[in-house]
Amino acid sequence: MTARKVLYRSCFCVLALLWAILILSGPLLAADPPVKNVIVLIMDGCSDEQLTLARWYKGEPLALDAIRTGAVKTHTREAVIADSAPAASAYATGVRTGGTVISLTPQRETSPGAAPGTGDMGLEPRATVLEGARLLGKATGIVVTSRLGHATPAAYMAHAPARDRESDITEQAVYQNIDVVFGGGRRFLLPANAGGARRDQEDLTAVLRARSSSLIDKADELQNLKKPKVFGLFAPSHLEPEIDRPQFAPEQPSLAAMTRKAIELLSQNPKGFFLMVEGSQIDWAGHANDPAHLLRDLLIFDQAVQIALDFAAKNGQTLVLALPDHNTGGMSIGNRRSDNNYTDIRTEDLIAPLKKMQLSAPGLWRQVGEDKTPEKIKEVVLQYWGIALTQEDAQEILKKAKLHGKEAHYALGEVICPKYTHLGWTTHGHTGGDVPLFAFGPGRPIGLLDAPDIGWITAAALGLDLDKLTRRLFVDARQAFPGQAVRLDRSNPDNPVLTITHQGRQATLPVNKNNLQQGGETTELEGVVIYISDTDRVFMPLQAVHLIRGEGKSLPDIRN
Ligand SMILES: [Zn+2]
Repeated sequence: MTARKVLYRSCFCVLALLWAILILSGPLLAADPPVKNVIVLIMDGCSDEQLTLARWYKGEPLALDAIRTGAVKTHTREAVIADSAPAASAYATGVRTGGTVISLTPQRETSPGAAPGTGDMGLEPRATVLEGARLLGKATGIVVTSRLGHATPAAYMAHAPARDRESDITEQAVYQNIDVVFGGGRRFLLPANAGGARRDQEDLTAVLRARSSSLIDKADELQNLKKPKVFGLFAPSHLEPEIDRPQFAPEQPSLAAMTRKAIELLSQNPKGFFLMVEGSQIDWAGHANDPAHLLRDLLIFDQAVQIALDFAAKNGQTLVLALPDHNTGGMSIGNRRSDNNYTDIRTEDLIAPLKKMQLSAPGLWRQVGEDKTPEKIKEVVLQYWGIALTQEDAQEILKKAKLHGKEAHYALGEVICPKYTHLGWTTHGHTGGDVPLFAFGPGRPIGLLDAPDIGWITAAALGLDLDKLTRRLFVDARQAFPGQAVRLDRSNPDNPVLTITHQGRQATLPVNKNNLQQGGETTELEGVVIYISDTDRVFMPLQAVHLIRGEGKSLPDIRN
């Protein structure tokens, strides 16, 4: 063999060795995920067209513009157009569901366009990425501008057969031991006889205090917060629209301020954190066809995105996902007025009427008060939206307002937008187009995704297996303890209690809580007890099954 051949062979051997080391060390590297934190920011009910409008209105690029990576298909198991409940459930659990279900499997297996009813899917709880992050020892947070029990936050924190079970949802949120909660919905913490909305007469503020959460209700209390845990609910119901906040509720914080504080508090956890931020009211602006509410809520959401991106860029181990859950309102730049002259619309033609708007449509309607006359409508619209309505338009608004009943303010955008702006709206409901996807950080997704992919991507980044997690958190109580051992006491229908008798010993598990009472002792469980009235099934953490059976078994791994 020549010297050159020996050299060639040894070079080849070294390369082969290096290659083998790389291949073998692959799984080792994968075991230590590059992502420590995940921040999901959801603009409820938004479309690309609305973001284009916000960019024109702002006059410069949005924070979102720099991180556009794809789009997401949002349809549900049953329909081409999603409600927030199944849409956010898919993002939170990786399972496409239907109806207005909160993080359960769908009741029926159907798909858009297919024959309905191919069998019962069971309405079984599916574990969420927030529940998994907490079990991994990470900090968890929820920041919204709606009530805490509204559909999108509910999908991350709770499990219910319908989104309107806000009392149950808020109770589960309290017992989920979330580290940072900012938003509205304070009335669901207190019983009716203490000025709250809880029918079960429980005082959840006492529970939070016992679990050493700070309770705050004003924006200026944010600055004094130095560490978790905290429940900051700044209004009995929803927060005010961003555009109305200075006038009607200066004591409420903005979405951007809440997001900044949440990241500051959560990032103190050495194991990392999961945070969900929702621009909840972008959707309501779409429902109302209200550009004033829409633009300012979108821009404050974009500021929250910038805050998340600034943190992620510095941190280097944070995945940021930002996306809507569906579209609302079917807004277009251009409407029937521009059927034949759309090429003539200049930026200022589009933006000038919108810049004059100083209150949201509901805020403006509040200023109309009881004086429901064309004169008052004209006066208020001129004062707050800078538009001189004709008498006929004012009359038309009053007529439509009556038809809209509780949503009287829907009449404003419906009459004013087609005539006095270049914006079109096609519905007061949701629409079914794909939504834009924005992402930043290690492993950011690119391309056209399916809604449940968002759940799997979030879970993978956190190092979680959602199937293993679901099996660990939600065991069917009657399957775990067959025969007569399981009883659900519904004598107080607002406070059902599960009792399980095992080898002569009785255990009680109140529904919507994470408490196991046994032999005079209460144990805090790692998950909440869920009762699904539709199927009369109760689900409990595997940890409780082990404790009741007196088994010292270790709990299964939930990492991927
Ligand atoms: Zn909606």
